[in-house]
Amino acid sequence: MIKTVKEIEIENKKVIIRCDFNVPIENKKIIDDTRIKESLETIRYCLNKNCKIILMSHLGRVKEEKDLKKNDLKIVAECLSKLLKKEVFFINETRGKKLEEKVKNMKEKEIILIQNTRYEDLEGKKESKNDAELAKYWSNLGEIFINDAFATIHRTHASNVGIASHLPHGIGLLIKKELEHLDELKCPKKPFIVILGGKKVADKIGVIKNLAPKVDYLVIGGGMAFTFLKADGYNIGKSIIDEENISFCKEMLEKYEEKIVLPVDIKTNNEFKNEGTIKIKDITNIEENDYGLDIGPKSIENFKNIIKKSQTVFWNGPLGVYEFDNFKIATDTLLKYITKNKIKTILGGGDILAAAKKAGVEKKIYYTSTGGGATLEYLEGKNLPGLME
Ligand code: AMP
Repeated sequence: MIKTVKEIEIENKKVIIRCDFNVPIENKKIIDDTRIKESLETIRYCLNKNCKIILMSHLGRVKEEKDLKKNDLKIVAECLSKLLKKEVFFINETRGKKLEEKVKNMKEKEIILIQNTRYEDLEGKKESKNDAELAKYWSNLGEIFINDAFATIHRTHASNVGIASHLPHGIGLLIKKELEHLDELKCPKKPFIVILGGKKVADKIGVIKNLAPKVDYLVIGGGMAFTFLKADGYNIGKSIIDEENISFCKEMLEKYEEKIVLPVDIKTNNEFKNEGTIKIKDITNIEENDYGLDIGPKSIENFKNIIKKSQTVFWNGPLGVYEFDNFKIATDTLLKYITKNKIKTILGGGDILAAAKKAGVEKKIYYTSTGGGATLEYLEGKNLPGLME
């Protein structure tokens, strides 16, 4: 049985909490602190139990020297400190004397955040390859390990699986909440529909295979739709295509003919840009030089009619290039339709979440998951390494 932090004796103990502070930063400012806020519940719970709290997280990717400065976690310690109204002591190293001294002398209710775990990736990818010596070193810092980083739960890293294999461990309250909501999709209220967008078919193969038998409709938009349209025999011009998965799409279209709903019209441009010669075209009329960047108005209506009748929706991936204002309409319209009509919807994945924020509706959505790949892999039914008994 996987234990939660509430089922472990943590009073007065030194607790390592693996958080997900992988937040977007622009011009030295955190532009979305959702993930930091989501970590507060577990941290506060441990504070109330008089723990000494050692926080760890990754931030971005560290491949070369110049990635270090860009992905410095100090800014997160400052933000966290403001949110908790309490000092969060930042240790600017991932191992070493300063860290060891500080940890040795910690008092109850003290919080420290150590530098980005992926600084250890610079030489030999020690964090991402779950280096045994690094995991052992980190585990020696604490007495209990709590994993609350949902978005990396599908990865075997030193800062999650590695530490957990040396210490009594459990999951935090964020991961618990994420799993409870995603588990609602195991026996969803019907009609149940899944909306998939975004550009990569490859990432969604598992989820399509696993969820297609359970759904009433599988609604496909975004760049993904073009691989399905191509598999269905349509010309897609210069629209994005995942050549390797055309045959998979064909197979799915044959197997789930009644369930898969594709766009019937497309908003095209003559370039992959926001501005240009923008047209609405039926899928039978797409020409060689067209880029399909959003679905068209007839498709939006069709999708709306399906959503209208549903009781549960899971949605991953935008229906168009929502980063361009001219091509965010379908995603925007349907997100607003869902919230206005209070349709129980779970959103999973960074891009659809960003689109919901852009549309100003994210707070009205039934549940927004902090995981992208992790959410998809959980829904695929895969065993997630970060979920250890
Ligand atoms: P994914 O990571 O597969 O969920 O893809 C998300 C990305 O898909 C976003 O950055 C969107 O801009 C992009 N996207 C959505 N629709 C299209 C499209 N029609 N053509 C190209 N990219 C798209």
